[in-house]
Amino acid sequence: MALLLLPALGTLAGEISSDPAVEGPLMPEVSSDDPASRSTATVITTETAPPADDGVPLAEAVVAAEGQAIPLELLGYSILPGTSERLSWSATELFEGVPVSTPVLVVNGAMPGPTLCLTAAVHGDELNGIEMVRRVMHDLVPEKVSGAVIGVPIVNVQGFRRGSRYLPDRRDLNRYFPGNPNGSAAARIANSFFVNVIKHCDALIDLHTGSFERANLPQIRADLRNPDVVTMTQGFGSTVILHSTPAAGTLRYAATMAGVPTVTLEAGGPSELELNEVKHGVKGIETLINSLGMVPKTRLWGDPEPVYYRSSWVRASNGGILLANVSLGSTVRRGDLLGTITDPMNNARTELRSPHSGRIIGMARNQVVMPGFAAFHVGIQTDDAEMVQDPVADAVPTIREGGAYIDSMSE
Ligand SMILES: [Zn+2]
Repeated sequence: MALLLLPALGTLAGEISSDPAVEGPLMPEVSSDDPASRSTATVITTETAPPADDGVPLAEAVVAAEGQAIPLELLGYSILPGTSERLSWSATELFEGVPVSTPVLVVNGAMPGPTLCLTAAVHGDELNGIEMVRRVMHDLVPEKVSGAVIGVPIVNVQGFRRGSRYLPDRRDLNRYFPGNPNGSAAARIANSFFVNVIKHCDALIDLHTGSFERANLPQIRADLRNPDVVTMTQGFGSTVILHSTPAAGTLRYAATMAGVPTVTLEAGGPSELELNEVKHGVKGIETLINSLGMVPKTRLWGDPEPVYYRSSWVRASNGGILLANVSLGSTVRRGDLLGTITDPMNNARTELRSPHSGRIIGMARNQVVMPGFAAFHVGIQTDDAEMVQDPVADAVPTIREGGAYIDSMSE
């Protein structure tokens, strides 16, 4: 059978965006079972600059901490300096009516310093972060820590139990922070977590993976307009840094706006435990804890310079079977073949080519796709200052897929 080759001209003009759906315009949440209650939910990208630090810069938090370490008050408990504790948090508003608790691991160091928090599985099907939190928390020796580390391996325990990204009502918990004690169930769960845990943090790393059959090269998503966030990006060793303005409702946005500088660490894809990604994440987090001075200096990764990227998604121009010609982390040149989409009915084949020279920092797994599907995420190395002063994120059209709304490529 003849093979029809169609040029994919449109893909050479791929939009520039670190996270197309998140960066997009107003995006109503799609409902299948409860339209009335969800018709008001929207995802709003905000350009509001995050607050500048008004106290001690995060980079100097350990040095500035004076006197004796004090007990850490959390969830009704008092954790003494130099000890670790396993607490639990459960939201007061639950779907089944039966309280579902999730562990909150605490290491309160023997010396004073900042409180760093780690959260994972805000999306219940994102497993890599769960294992990262476990490893980081169990590697810490309380007697040698300055400050405290709080780790919540599974924030969305109801989604986790069902292997689902969402809460039981298909709401995305990561669109409801900081929450509302009188709002929807999702808003109440978000509020309970935000008030009882997040507000006790001085800095936060929220762990995610790609979503919807996409995987991400380990990378930090950060709003580089906040100086404390920049401090955090400088501590992750050899990890790609993407400047990205978060959507309202994400934990990253809400926490940063509440004075808790936050980055998202993306690594791998959903529904899998990927050991290389887990190891990279653990090494990055432990390097940050090192660089903040919260543990005695060791050289996990030397002191590499962070590498900043802007990025562009390459979308499917046709529907069909997507097969990749590159892999995560591949270096590509402008015009290189990234993958093909073949129509299984008429054998017509479309090529997806890279609009830029750069690196593959995210990509879809081989699968059947619809036109518009975001298939390859090309990172373009850039200067961090240039990136913030000249934001390149475009508005991105709304996409629906399989009846479900793609509310994010990741976080
Ligand atoms: Zn996520």
